[in-house]
Amino acid sequence: MNDAKIIIVSAPSGCGKGTILAEVLEKTGAFLSISCTTRGPRVGEENGVNYHFITQDEFDKMIDDNAFLEYARFVGKSYGTPAKPVDDAISQGRDAILEIETKGAFQVKESRPESVSIFILPPSIKELERRLRKRATETEEKILERVAQAAGEIEKSPRYDYVIMNDALEDAIRDFELVVSSVKANDNRADKFKAENMKETIEEVLKNA
Ligand code: 5GP
Repeated sequence: MNDAKIIIVSAPSGCGKGTILAEVLEKTGAFLSISCTTRGPRVGEENGVNYHFITQDEFDKMIDDNAFLEYARFVGKSYGTPAKPVDDAISQGRDAILEIETKGAFQVKESRPESVSIFILPPSIKELERRLRKRATETEEKILERVAQAAGEIEKSPRYDYVIMNDALEDAIRDFELVVSSVKANDNRADKFKAENMKETIEEVLKNA
């Protein structure tokens, strides 16, 4: 039986989501969706690897062609998941990981209810701000904008299927893998990470701003 799943992963930028996913991909051979975006590449980012960097006109054309599984605006730019590569991966029996923000995540959950959604929390908003500064890829104004955005996204995390925290990287990778394997086995090993059981942790993170 083909039990391949769409795995939606959201996390405020600076949560270490990229590092967690790189490890998961290496271990599992899952497919990582490459999004289209109208924002420009950051230093070190490559077209066709990190994103397909396209113009707003090209983006709008893809919307008209129904080529997106979902799309959304984020901090003034457009981001979207091309549908075909995801569908191809699933039909080949590979899990497809979508690293997307909250609005897109809810669109996918609605159109593909069999998908699983996972939100990755930072230990605190303060820590997230520190990580963003350390990364130093962004202007001060953009950092503050992203911190404000992060709080808004964390507030939506109770609407995900599962919520895990990236405090120590190794633990976060283990928890992520546990959630995916438990969803596939349809058992209760990852119940403690179900969003309804993570409410207190989510509140703590938001309080610790
Ligand atoms: P960044 O500009 O930092 O790479 O990404 C900003 C936000 O956009 C992140 O939360 C990222 O997960 C999200 N994002 C990246 N690709 C997509 C996409 O295809 N669709 C949606 N809805 N969000 C995306």
